[in-house]
Parts: sequence; C-alpha cells; structure tokens
Amino acid sequence: MTDIQTTRIVLAARPEGRPKPSDFRTETQALKAPQDGQVLLETLYLSLDPYMRGRMNEGESYAPPMALGDVMVGGTVSRVVESRYPNLKAGDVVLSAAGWQTHAVVDGKGLRKLDPDAAPPSTALHVLGMTGFTAYSGLLTIGQPKEGETVVVAAASGPVGSMVGQIARIRGARVVGIAGGADKCAYVVDELGFDAAVDHRAPDFAKQLAQACPDGIDVYFENVGGPVWDAVQPLLNLYARIPVCGLVAHYNDKDVAEGPDRLPAMMGTVLKKSLTIRGFIMSELMEEQMPAFLKDVTGWIAEGRVRWREDMVEGLENAPDAFIGLLEGKNFGKVVVKVADL
Ligand code: NDP
Repeated sequence: MTDIQTTRIVLAARPEGRPKPSDFRTETQALKAPQDGQVLLETLYLSLDPYMRGRMNEGESYAPPMALGDVMVGGTVSRVVESRYPNLKAGDVVLSAAGWQTHAVVDGKGLRKLDPDAAPPSTALHVLGMTGFTAYSGLLTIGQPKEGETVVVAAASGPVGSMVGQIARIRGARVVGIAGGADKCAYVVDELGFDAAVDHRAPDFAKQLAQACPDGIDVYFENVGGPVWDAVQPLLNLYARIPVCGLVAHYNDKDVAEGPDRLPAMMGTVLKKSLTIRGFIMSELMEEQMPAFLKDVTGWIAEGRVRWREDMVEGLENAPDAFIGLLEGKNFGKVVVKVADL
C-alpha cells in the first residue's frame, strides 16, 4: 500500500434536467500501490466538457453511462509520481483520463507523454487535444470547406467552435461565428479573426444571421441545436454540409419538447437542397487522423495562425459549479480546472 490518498468527486445522483451541486459528492480514498505496468498519477489539470452531462444519465449512448458512485470521467494532465511502467518515470507529465480526482493509479499503456517545453501542458486538453481534434476531424472530413465558401459555427468562442472557425479560415473560407453575448462575439472577430459574429441571444438573431451570410451557408458545424439550428436551416445552400458534433442546447432537456412535428419540413429541406448531414464521434476518426492533426496544429500554433483562450478554475472543489455553468454558456473559453501546481 502507498500512503497516498485521492480526493475525488463522484456521481451522487442522476440529474433531472440541469445538474445540481447535490448530484456530486466529494470523497477521500486510499490508493493501492501501482502494480507492474501501472503508474501513480497526480492530477495537475482537469478538462471539463459538455459530453460529461450525457454520461451522468442512465441508458446507453455512444459510451456507457457512469454508475452512481463512480468518479466523474474526464481528461487530465497529470504528473507521474511513481512508475512501474517502463516508458515513464517519476516527474513525467502525461495526458490521461484519470477523471475528477487528485490522484489515480492507472495503466501506463495509452498515456501520452507531454513535453512541457514544447507547449503549455494544459493545451493537451484542448487546442492540441480532444476538442481541437474534434474540430479538425469533423470540419475537414465532413464539412470539407472550400475557398470562398461560408462556414458557420456556434459556441464559437469555445474550444471546438474556435478551432472550427480558425481552421476554416486557414482553408480560405469566410467564417461566421455564433456566440452568447457581445464580449464573446468581439473576441471571435478581434482575437480569432472570424469575418463576423452574431449573438444568439439577440431578439432579432435570425435576421442578423441572414445579414451576416449574404451568400447563404455552405458548411454549418452543428454544436448546439435548438433555436440556432432553426435560424440556420433556411440559409443553407444547395449541397451544404453539416457535421453534427454536439447539441448542447438540449443536454439538460428532460423530455422531448411538445409542438408541431417539423420533421417532414426538415426532411423536405434535406431533399430539395441535397444536404449532407452526418454525425460523428471524434474517437472514430482518431486512429486515422491524429498524426496529421498534431502535425498541422503544432505548425499553425508555431506560425501564430491558431489562438485559444482558457477559462481556468482554481481547485477541484470548484469543478461541479464550473461544469453546471459550462452547460449554460457561463464559461468564456476552454474550461480547465487547476488541481495542483505544475
Ligand atoms: P464549450 O466550451 O463551447 O461550451 C458549450 C457552449 O455552448 C457554451 O459556452 C455556450 O456558448 C454554448 N451554448 C450552451 N447552451 C446553448 C444554447 N442553448 N444555445 C446556443 N449555444 C449554447 O463546448 P465545447 O467546445 O467543448 O463543445 C462544443 C460542442 O461539441 C458540444 O456540443 C459538445 O458536446 C460537442 N463535442 C462533440 C464531440 C464529438 O466527438 N462529437 C467531442 C467534443 C465536443 P455561448 O455562450 O457562446 O452560447
């Protein structure tokens, strides 16, 4: 036995709609010493992501749900404290999936060793990690933006949306971002170089979006659903491509909303405009595209063509509130929880 203890946040109850602080519980547990092939990790940074909300529900999705009492899932940047895995030693910094806890014993195989001198280690959780890869693979595989086309993306100041827009610009497209509030809209235009941005909370949002897209929309990268999709649909051009990446506007829904059945009208649009709508889970594209992603994005960062913004939260104890806020757009940039000093 090591005398190391982990402080961890577990799923205490399945949320009904919006998660509450009482859906989470903090526990302390002694850890067993690492066995052959395992390492003991200390969490430095924890990534908070919208997909975690789906894992809190009962029922099968593209990944199995968490059980009550399980440690909340999550990507981490962690330091190796003790290693019984040949390729890692104490002090190495790795990308792991240790979840919402201060320490963990995990298999060494599959951990990505990071070079803290090459890029700030927390970037492995976003621009050089899962969310950056999601943007890269979904946009280039399904969206296939061409020079001069109009690309629209919502949650545009967040880690996926910001990368979608910047990569589309690199590919020569005209990019319109959709974001919540004036500050986020200003950021995507002034800092990220989008051509225009529209606030989805504005009362005349649909009209503003139409004005920002005078040539219609060729690629709509779907991150949110809801009223944003309603405003996008009439603007889609013939042969438009729609990578369906996420539907964060619906993650806290309790039931299917009542109202008229609009599916026939939507399928009519799909037919008449020869739309390509394809969902994807980034992991299905990882094996094939991860090397190209790391090479391209590392190069774009070095050339100053890709930027990012972190919304850094101090302390594991603040993860539940930050996560609840993330689902409501209270974050500004990639939510990273700093659990321990680098
Ligand atoms: P963000 O950090 O951007 O956070 C979500 C953002 O969504 C909020 O900040 C908010 O931004 C926006 N939002 C929330 N509610 C609404 C609403 N009702 N209408 C419009 N916008 C809303 O998230 P990520 O960049 O990490 O993820 C973006 C999407 O990508 C999510 O749907 C996520 O589930 C999905 N995803 C999918 C993956 C895949 O493999 N398919 C992998 C990774 C992520 P604002 O204030 O600007 O509205």
